[in-house]
Order: sequence, then C-alpha cells, then structure tokens
Amino acid sequence: MFSDELAKIDWDETTAKIAAKTDADVRRALSKEHCDVEDFMAMISPAAAPYLETMARLSKKYTEERFGKTISMFIPLYITNSCTNSCVYCGFHISNPMARTILTIDQCEDEYKAIKKLGPFENLLIVTGENPAKAGVPYIAKALDVAKKYFSNLKIEVMPLSTEEYEELTRHGMNGVICFQETYHRANYNIYHPKGMKSKFEWRCNGFDRMGQAGVHSIGMGVLIGLEKEWRTDITMMAYHLRYLQKHYWKTKYSVNFPRMRPAENGGFQPNVIMSDKELAQVTFAMRIFDHDVDISYSTREPAIIRDNMACLGVTTMSAESKTEPGGYYTYPQALEQFHVNDDRTAVEINARLKELGREPVWKDWDSSFDELKIVKAG
Ligand code: SF4
Repeated sequence: MFSDELAKIDWDETTAKIAAKTDADVRRALSKEHCDVEDFMAMISPAAAPYLETMARLSKKYTEERFGKTISMFIPLYITNSCTNSCVYCGFHISNPMARTILTIDQCEDEYKAIKKLGPFENLLIVTGENPAKAGVPYIAKALDVAKKYFSNLKIEVMPLSTEEYEELTRHGMNGVICFQETYHRANYNIYHPKGMKSKFEWRCNGFDRMGQAGVHSIGMGVLIGLEKEWRTDITMMAYHLRYLQKHYWKTKYSVNFPRMRPAENGGFQPNVIMSDKELAQVTFAMRIFDHDVDISYSTREPAIIRDNMACLGVTTMSAESKTEPGGYYTYPQALEQFHVNDDRTAVEINARLKELGREPVWKDWDSSFDELKIVKAG
C-alpha cells in the first residue's frame, strides 16, 4: 500500500532537497527524455524559474506528440452536498447549518437532461460529499444506472470506497474515479480534516491502491494548493504516488490536477499559501515533462485566460460550464456552491475559443463498448 511507501519518504528532507536544486540539476532534467522524481523536484524548484519558456516548449512538444491537439471536455454534477466530514476549507462541512440536498434519482435525471442541453457532453463526473448512510454506494449506483442512458463515460468523485465497492460501481457503468489526497503531509492532514471518515489518512491515501486492485479504468489524483506552505513538497509526494501506482496498476490511466485555493471573501478558510500563475504554469510543464502520458486537468476554478493559455501548452482535460452546487443545472440553480467558479463561460463559448486557439475539444473520448470490443476480439 502506498502509505507504507510514503512513510519512507521524509517530508523535511524532500523540502530541503527541492530548495537545494541547482541550475545544473534543472538543465540535466530538461535534457532527459525520461525523468525521475529527482528531476521533477528540480523542475518545480525555484532554480527552474528562469527556464519557464524552455519548459513550455518541451511541455507543448510532449503533449502534442502524445495527445495531438485534443482537449477532453467533461462536466461535474454534484448530486448531494450532504456530508459527515469537517474539512476546514469546505462550505459543505458537517457543522455548517445549511440545508442539505440529496437529489432524488428523478432529479438526477433532470440534471442529466439539462446538461445535455448545454453541449454535447459525454464525459460526466458525479460528485458527492461523504454520507454513506444516506447517499452511499447503492444511491451512487442508481445515479450511474440512469446516467448511462445519457453519457458514455462516467466518473465519480466520492468518498474513498472499498475494493469491492469500486468493483460494484464499475458494474454500474463507472469507469473512472477522481479522489484528491488534498495533502500528503501526514501530521497536518488532521488539522484540515479533524473529524469524520476523511480524518483517516491511510484510508484515503490507500484508496488509490483499492481503485487499482478493482481495475478502475482511470484514476484522478490531486493536491489542494493552499493547504501546505511547501506546496512543492506536496506535489512531489504526488509524483511519487503517481509513479508507484503506474508501477503496480499499469493498465490504469492517470490524471492529475493542482486546484488552487483563492483567498476567501466571506471570512472562511484562508489559504496558507497562494500559488502564482507562473508557479502553476511551471508545475504543469514540469508534470508534462516528467510524465508524457498523464492527463493534466484544469477545472473552472481557474480563470478563462489561464485555461486558454495552458490548453495550448500541456493541459489535456477541462471541465466546462460547471456548477458546484447540487442540482445546479436544473433543480436548484441558486444553492450554495462548494467553491467559486472563475471561468463562467458557457460550454459553447469554451468550445469556440478552444477551436480558435487551434485545439480540438473532444466531448467523447472513451466508451465502455471499446472494452467490449476488445473482449470480443480476444475471444
Ligand atoms: S471537501 Fe468533501 S468531504 Fe470535505 S466537507 Fe467538503 S464535501 Fe465533505
């Protein structure tokens, strides 16, 4: 399990190593076709800041070699904001006395239909909080069953599950799971996640092994930038995690995301660090040079200008026209958002802009029937 591997990597030593990376380390990393985590550390270190343009060129080259000019488009749907966790940075935490919503399956279907009117979406991400008693696996399975009629690629972003539960949801059409570790800092993790199941670091961290063991087709990972001041160390831990998973579950496809927290305007949780746009670009290029195959995903947390620029330089997956409140497309369009969306263009506008930039937005990039085809051929 990855938690055993993580225990062998010292946080402070890693932080010191990154800070000590030199110009020569950066140049060595940039000259390699296949980089290791040490090279990744060099590329995200302050020493690599003067090499941003070189990194952008390399990132663009590797991205286009592997993905062409395609950008895979998806849309998230929150089906509940009911949650038993107490993440200090999230408005859906259990102590917030807000009204909770768990969409009925009929309401989910209304949302699916409303989404289909926004654009030719085929990639749907179903999102929940963590309330296994009221919105657990049987509920998610029913939501998937109905979603299958409307979308060809279904992912979930829900609480970590057991291997058997991932297998069960796969039978209901789920072919991808996104789960953010939020931070790999073992001690501080519990400051941000003091209560509830999410306070169990190992359960979350090893959830990725369980996904791999269940044969989940695609796994999405992420670190929430704004929690740990040493975000470079956190992202390095994710790079170790990615390499570990690729080695053990090599049939699975991986994606990464670096969501940035913004200062809260309403007295809510204030990020411990703000990652600049240049730093986000550096990390994105470094990730692409480190791993030519990993999907790099940007959500609508990022402003349009950044998403447009990065769509040409390394990003391969994007959400569009996202609502981060449950039932936001049809049922309850005015409910409390989980986080504020910075790119509020419509799917049609984003599609047009990406085409203007020479990109090819792809609305359907995977279909479960491809797997059936493979099975028939193998038989
Ligand atoms: S981040 Fe997720 S698990 Fe944590 S309180 Fe919000 S909805 Fe619940």
